[in-house]
Amino acid sequence: MQVIEHPVERLHTALRSTRKDLIETYQQFSRAEKTLLEEGLLPGNSLFNPITIHSNSDWIPAHPEDPQDFQSFYINPYRRSPSSGHNTIYIQTIGSFGEGAVVAVQYVEWLKDYCQAFYYGLVVKLLPPVTVASTACSFRINDNTHNLQLHAGELLNFLKKKKPRDAFCIVGITMIDLYPRESWNFVFGQASLTDGMGVFSFARYDDNFYQRSYAGRLKKNIKLKQGDYSVFENYYTPPITSTLLLRSCKTLTHEIGHIFGVKHCQWLNCVMQGSNHLEESDRRALDLCPICLRKLQSAIGFKIADRYKALLHWIEDGAASSGQNSKPTQAFQEYKHWLYKCLRILEGEKS
Ligand SMILES: [Zn+2]
Ligand SMILES: [Zn+2]
Repeated sequence: MQVIEHPVERLHTALRSTRKDLIETYQQFSRAEKTLLEEGLLPGNSLFNPITIHSNSDWIPAHPEDPQDFQSFYINPYRRSPSSGHNTIYIQTIGSFGEGAVVAVQYVEWLKDYCQAFYYGLVVKLLPPVTVASTACSFRINDNTHNLQLHAGELLNFLKKKKPRDAFCIVGITMIDLYPRESWNFVFGQASLTDGMGVFSFARYDDNFYQRSYAGRLKKNIKLKQGDYSVFENYYTPPITSTLLLRSCKTLTHEIGHIFGVKHCQWLNCVMQGSNHLEESDRRALDLCPICLRKLQSAIGFKIADRYKALLHWIEDGAASSGQNSKPTQAFQEYKHWLYKCLRILEGEKS
């Protein structure tokens, strides 16, 4: 295992930048906010760990590129920022989201609320769910895994037509696997950053996806007819577990981060790290490192503590409810303690 340790001075420059005006806007963070951001860059600090590389199939060795510091994010003329007329994130669910309508509806609500806390200051709205048939997209059975897949590019064309005028972005989510073109095995998602839209599948976040017994495998002799969407009726959807909720919250916020123009993080363990496979995705943090946090803060303009409190409220709100449809937040407990630690630093402020 390789640990990527940048010199502290390099991380500081990536956070603050070298441009006078950007250093001045950095000074507008409160003293406690600066303490959190800067202490997080020190080696051995308890909040933000370095990135670790476990094999050559991890994202960074497989995709060498320049890291994006705050300044290069800020000056990118093509990045999108929310504005007063375009400050809503729309989520469009495509196809079924779980056995039992109540659970499916709740799960999507939890995702929406999580995104709203993560992108604190923006509004997140759910569009009425649509069936696969109503998207009129192409589909196929994967030759290797024998599960149904939807054509990601055609779903993006569908979303483009659905995008409301006040949207900052529109993201489509589905429990059905995706493919970008015939020659590809699958894709987790596809986005058009200039159009402010993306479509993402959570199918492969099912713990059983790669098992031979996976219930989404179809019988080998099934013949599909394009345009006949009846095969999607009663098609398998993964059970809504705490792990699935965590993985889908992580993916959705990561992908929306790209729509803001945040590139893959190479600084510290961060939700914006690239990932090539599920194990690497599970390894990355749920939240942003100090450098990516400054990028998001400059695009939206929240107080860091308010955002952390909203995320904490999302976790605790779930723990407080009980019964069959309570929010499964067990997988978020470590994150909860992390948020408390950050808030203790932020609230140590007296000035
Ligand atoms: Zn990414
Ligand atoms: Zn980062």
